[in-house]
Amino acid sequence: MAKARYEGYSEGTPTKLVKETFGDTKVYAQNAKSILNPATGFIAAYDFTLNPYRGCQYGCSYCYAAAFSPNSQMRQDWGKWVIIKENAAQILEKELETWYKKNPHKFPKIYMSSVTDPYQPIESKHQLTRSLLEVMLEYRPTLVIQTRSPIITRDIDILQRFQRLRINMSIPTGSESVRRDFEARSPSIKARLNAITKIKQTIDPLKGFIPKVSITITPLLPTLPEDEAAFIEKLAIADRIVIQEFHASHNRSLVAGTREEAQGIKQKYAWWYDLEQVNYMKFKENLISRLPSVEIKEGKDGFGYE
Ligand code: SF4
Repeated sequence: MAKARYEGYSEGTPTKLVKETFGDTKVYAQNAKSILNPATGFIAAYDFTLNPYRGCQYGCSYCYAAAFSPNSQMRQDWGKWVIIKENAAQILEKELETWYKKNPHKFPKIYMSSVTDPYQPIESKHQLTRSLLEVMLEYRPTLVIQTRSPIITRDIDILQRFQRLRINMSIPTGSESVRRDFEARSPSIKARLNAITKIKQTIDPLKGFIPKVSITITPLLPTLPEDEAAFIEKLAIADRIVIQEFHASHNRSLVAGTREEAQGIKQKYAWWYDLEQVNYMKFKENLISRLPSVEIKEGKDGFGYE
C-alpha cells in the first residue's frame, strides 16, 4: 500500500489533509486497522498496548516514540502533529470480542499508552481516550494508564469503575526549570502531583475502586539539590516509584535519550551527567531511606500492574 503523504510534511499531493489545528499542532484523522497491538520490550508482561493517537503533542526531547513518526520531517517536528485514530472505539470493541472468544476466562492486560500520551491536550476536545475507557469497562481488562497529564482527572467517574487499574504518572524531575528544558510543552510538575491527589481524594472507596498509583521517573532527569528533599516528600503520594537511568540499556535500539535534542540539553546539566551513575544511586538511596512505605522499583520491573 502506498505510504500516506501528510499535508505540510510530504512532497507531492498530500493524501492526508490537516483536519484542524489545535494550538500549534496539525491534527490529522485516520482509521486504524487494529488498536490492540501485542506488547513487547519493557512491557512484554501485558497482552496489548493501546495507543489512541499517533504522535504526541507533549513532544518531550527524549521521547523514543518519535522514531515511529511516519516520515523524517514529522520526526523532526515531534510534538507539532498528531493523528487521531477515528475508529478506535469500534475497533477496540471488535478486538476485545475476539479476545474473549479465544480466552473466555482471561482478562486481557492492556498498557495505554506506549508511544503517545492518551491525555495529551487534543484529548480534552476529542475525548477519544474516554470513549475507549467506556468500551473497556464492559470487558473488565487489567489496565495501566501511562500519562503525564492532569486531563486524566476529567475521567475519574469512569476510572473508579475499573477494578484493576494502575495509573503511572510520569514525573522525571522535581525541578520545574529542568522540566521546561527537557519537556517544554508538558504540564507542570505541580499539576501532575495535584492530579494524583485529586484522583485519590475524589474516589470514595465505598462507591468505586481506588487505583494503584505509580510515579514513573523514567528517565531520571536531574533535580536541583535545593528541590530534591521537597520533591521526594511529595512522591509519598504514590504506592510505587519507578526509576530508570537515561540510557537503560545500550543493547536496545530505542531508549530514552535517543533523540539528539535530548543529548544537547544534557550538556547543560554536565554537573549531574558527568557523575550520572553516582547521582542515580544517591537519588535511589534517598528514595529508599525517605519513603519507607513506598515500593521503589527500577526499569522494566516497575512497569508491571501487580
Ligand atoms: S508524553 Fe510520553 S509519548 Fe508524549 S512526547 Fe512525552 S515521552 Fe513521548
